[in-house]
Amino acid sequence: MYFRDIEGKDDIKKLLIKTVEKDRIPHAQIFLGKEGAGALPMALAYASYLICSNKSQGDSCGHCSHCLKSHKYIHPDIHFSFPVVKFKEKKRVETTSSDFLPKWRSILSSNPNMGTREWLLHIDAENNLPNINVRECYDIMHKLNMMSYESDKKVLIMWLPEYLHTEGNRLLKLIEEPTDNTYIILVAENQDLILQTILSRCQLVIIPAYENSEISQFLVKEFDIANDKAHQFASSLMETLIVR
Ligand SMILES: [Zn+2]
Repeated sequence: MYFRDIEGKDDIKKLLIKTVEKDRIPHAQIFLGKEGAGALPMALAYASYLICSNKSQGDSCGHCSHCLKSHKYIHPDIHFSFPVVKFKEKKRVETTSSDFLPKWRSILSSNPNMGTREWLLHIDAENNLPNINVRECYDIMHKLNMMSYESDKKVLIMWLPEYLHTEGNRLLKLIEEPTDNTYIILVAENQDLILQTILSRCQLVIIPAYENSEISQFLVKEFDIANDKAHQFASSLMETLIVR
């Protein structure tokens, strides 16, 4: 994911790029945006930018050895954590995000702005309640305490930390005193559901929802739809999202 693939939100992109240019990258951040606001794509673009070795024009280059992997979501120094359910024959307590990585990569490639429902449908778990369990917390600690593989930086993107229950407190030390060049990005939709202990230790980056007019402009530009039709469509889309 590139910054240029994310429609609008130029002020946020500039702010994030500046943290890298000035070498003032917060060790733990929460990208907070409602479903559809683009918080996860922003985190993905930022992670690629962070580890790209040939950044140019405010974006990752797409050609360096890091970009070749980060844009396919297979870079060994960009770790992902997200809510899951029991995996095949494994017990739930033994299941971690790693078991679902192929599914995770495929949804990021096709629909990186997905919501929880799309994710659960994608892993055939629409009737299950997902979570981020204790084993996952230990897995994260293990990954981030190891040396990095190919980059001089390590990044963890955790999607929906709302699904971390009190076991999330195991991550506090990591968030507070991360190992060198380790960056944690939590991508959340609902601030009220994040553990207060985690929330208070992270830098908050608010990703505002798209305005109706931004969606209309996007439709006109990308799909050559007439202005009034685009406006109509954007309004009905917004209504659907609000109802949800
Ligand atoms: Zn690059």
